[in-house]
Amino acid sequence: MATFELRKLVKTYGRTPVIHGIDLFIPDGEFVVFVGPSGCGKSTTLRMIAGLEEVSGGEIRIGDRVVNEVDPKERNLAMVFQNYAIYPHMTVRQNIAFGLYTSRLSGAEKARKVEAAAALLGLTPLLDRRPSALSGGQRQRVAIGRAMVREPAGFLFDEPLSNLDAQLRAQMRIEIKDLHRRLGTTIAYVTHDQVEAMTMADRIVVMKDGHILQAAPPMEIYDNP
Ligand code: ADP
Ligand code: ADP
Repeated sequence: MATFELRKLVKTYGRTPVIHGIDLFIPDGEFVVFVGPSGCGKSTTLRMIAGLEEVSGGEIRIGDRVVNEVDPKERNLAMVFQNYAIYPHMTVRQNIAFGLYTSRLSGAEKARKVEAAAALLGLTPLLDRRPSALSGGQRQRVAIGRAMVREPAGFLFDEPLSNLDAQLRAQMRIEIKDLHRRLGTTIAYVTHDQVEAMTMADRIVVMKDGHILQAAPPMEIYDNP
C-alpha cells in the first residue's frame, strides 16, 4: 500500500518546460486517472513516478520517502504499459513468474504466488498456453499478472487498453476496476479515453499544457467540463 505525492514537480526537456510545477496527493488505495489532450504531460508525469524519467525540479514521494533519486526497481511499483512486453516463447505461467525473476523466494513459494495471481485474473485454465494462443485481453491480463505477482505498493498504467478492440476494452475496464477493489492498491492510470476515466476513476486529474486544471471525482468533472 502506498501514497503518492507530487510537490512542485517540474520536467524540462532541454530548455523546454513540459511539466510546470504540479502538486498532487494520491491517498493510499485511490484509483486516479490522468486525462488531457495529447502532449499535455500525462505520460511524462507517470514515467517520473515510475523513475523512468528524471525529475527536473520538485519532489516525488512514495509514502514518506522522497524517491527522486531512487532506482525504479527500488520503488516497488508495477508498470503496465500499452505495448505489454510479454514473451512469446514463454507460457503464461513462465511469463507471470518472470515478474519474480530476481526474488529470493523458494520455487514452491513463487509457484504459489503465480497461481494466486492467475486465479485472480481468470488465467488458471490458460497457464500452460503461449501468448500466440491468447486473445488481446488475455495477453494484457498476463502483463498485469506479471506486475501483480511482485506485490507492488502501487500500479502505474499508461494507456493499457488502447491496443484492444472496443469489446475487450469494455471487459478489461471492468476487470481492472474489480482488481482494484480486491487488492485495494493505489493506482495511477493514464488514458485519453473519457469512458475509461469516467467509469474507473475515484478521482480524475485533468491536465493541460503541463498543468493540472482539475482534480475531482468523475461526477464533478462531468458537471464542470
Ligand atoms: P501525453 O502523455 O499527455 O500525451 P507526454 O507526457 O508524452 O504527453 O509529453 C509531454 C510533452 O513533452 C510533449 O510536448 C512532448 O512532445 C514532450 N516530450 C515527451 N518526451 C520527450 C522527450 N524525450 N524529449 C523531448 N520532449 C519530449
Ligand atoms: P533485472 O535486474 O533482471 O532487470 P528486475 O527485478 O528489474 O530484474 O526485473 C525482472 C523482470 O521483472 C523485468 O525484466 C520485468 O519483466 C519485470 N519487472 C520489473 N519491474 C517491473 C515492474 N515495475 N512492473 C512489472 N514488471 C516488472
